[in-house]
Amino acid sequence: MNGADRYRMTNKISYTVDTLVVGASLSGSVSAFILGKAGVSVALVDPQPFPRQKACGEGLSALGQSYLKQLGLWTEALDRASVPLFGYSIKRQDGSTVSLVSRSDAPQCFGVSRVSLDSHVLESARCQPSVSFVNDKVVSLEPWNGEWLCRTSNGTGIQARSVILGVGGKGFQFLSDEPASSHYADARFGLAFWCKGGWNNGRPSVVQIVHQPEGQYFITPISEDTVNISVLLQQSGRDIPAKGEMKRRGLELLRSAGFEVREVSDTRGAGEVHALRRVGHSSLYLVGDAIERFDPVGGMGMTHAVLSAALAAASVLEGRWDPGPALRKYYSARWRAARILRLLSELSYELNVAENWAVLKLVRCAPRFSLWVTSFLRKCVPSLPRVVLDARSLGERPFASESQLPSYSFSLAIQESRS
Ligand SMILES: Cc1cc2nc3c(=O)[nH]c(=O)nc-3n(C[C@H](O)[C@H](O)[C@H](O)COP(=O)(O)OP(=O)(O)OC[C@H]3O[C@@H](n4cnc5c(N)ncnc54)[C@H](O)[C@@H]3O)c2cc1C
Repeated sequence: MNGADRYRMTNKISYTVDTLVVGASLSGSVSAFILGKAGVSVALVDPQPFPRQKACGEGLSALGQSYLKQLGLWTEALDRASVPLFGYSIKRQDGSTVSLVSRSDAPQCFGVSRVSLDSHVLESARCQPSVSFVNDKVVSLEPWNGEWLCRTSNGTGIQARSVILGVGGKGFQFLSDEPASSHYADARFGLAFWCKGGWNNGRPSVVQIVHQPEGQYFITPISEDTVNISVLLQQSGRDIPAKGEMKRRGLELLRSAGFEVREVSDTRGAGEVHALRRVGHSSLYLVGDAIERFDPVGGMGMTHAVLSAALAAASVLEGRWDPGPALRKYYSARWRAARILRLLSELSYELNVAENWAVLKLVRCAPRFSLWVTSFLRKCVPSLPRVVLDARSLGERPFASESQLPSYSFSLAIQESRS
């Protein structure tokens, strides 16, 4: 009896579904929503008690917002609850300020609460009759006969034909056959907290970024009376202040920006950002931060989460008869899309963090041209696949014959890293 057979004997299979989606944050819920709309059976698993706060600067790019709109996931309520933002004002350590503000009516990004956004997307997924939400943590995934067997911490067994991993990038590792991952040289980490209160001189319509010796403090209005403060630090090379100290400094900056603070939340921390996992095999779909964590300065994290989730869902839908080529198509489509998102992120990084002389000069001397470059690049990012926009009942996909299924020669377990 092999490991998988023993597994089946000792674990009750509670769900047999077409697709298992691990992680119900933005990327996971978007994939589950699209698949659910097409009538594909999905088990969506996450241990978090939703709605929940998440460490994030909560700046959604206009591109990300347009993807959500096209998918029917950006509602009027979200529109009313979010804050349109027209650019960035960067205060450097020498006291000088660089502004990159669009004069057009079109916002560059939106300040939006992840509590509202993530809950809405998750609820939209859960409303699909073929989607089951399992409020639990996946502890192991094992290939079995061309399919997957999954176990959660409460012992629930899930059998699925394909797996989408939207587990984020925070300290998770595959215990065996870890696909090689790489960190950009300047991997960073960050934290966020939220303040309620009011603006003395009217709410600003830009994201304010204030440089401090240890990193950058982002001030993003996310509603009439709430502000998100996120802090991004270099991983190494500088003394890292304690969380409380960063919070104190953030509050000071917020007050000097004209915000009267009434209430302050706890801080939410996050592990490394700015990292890429190179998938060494094409046997499961990694989406969102699980495959690539963009530097949050560029605000491309949520945009990538939505786009990669839609590309993965498209591959699951298109690969109903022949999953192998569809998986390969996903990885190359995501890579192509990520190249441009990466470039946009890198430009923001050079401007904000590296304080690249050439980029600073360009923004100072030709702000309109700089904005044109970024909006041109945004137009080069692929549009959403037709199949996900048209997703309507396809019914269950048939069991593929053994020869059509990709062969899995490894097993993997997901566990929270202790490091
Ligand atoms: C400080 C900071 C500021 C940021 N600011 C911005 C910003 O302003 N704009 C922007 O666009 N992006 C920003 N980002 C990045 C953005 O938050 C992420 O890119 C985005 O949340 C990725 O979404 P995701 O769905 O891939 O993963 P996540 O949002 O990380 O969600 C992963 C989910 O998987 C679940 N999970 C994990 N393991 C398991 C398991 N074993 N079983 C079941 N479920 C599991 C978790 O509970 C979680 O709900 C920021 C990030 C940080 C850290």
